[in-house]
Amino acid sequence: MECPYCSKNLIKGYIKTGGEVITWSSDPKRKPILSSRWKVFENEVKLGTYHYFKGGRVCAYRCENCEKIIIDTK
Ligand SMILES: [Zn+2]
Repeated sequence: MECPYCSKNLIKGYIKTGGEVITWSSDPKRKPILSSRWKVFENEVKLGTYHYFKGGRVCAYRCENCEKIIIDTK
């Protein structure tokens, strides 16, 4: 896959957590400190897969040149 900004090759990888679900949100507020690790709030999009014992993981493509990461939402 090519970077849409500079057209160089993207490096396939993953964004991972040790215990929390990975989400995207348009709301800049941070999650409440006591919210559960797998809670996806109303204004959030869950990214990738989540397993209670293994955490979250989503495929992502990184451009070393632009220092950007493109993430698959599923
Ligand atoms: Zn780039």
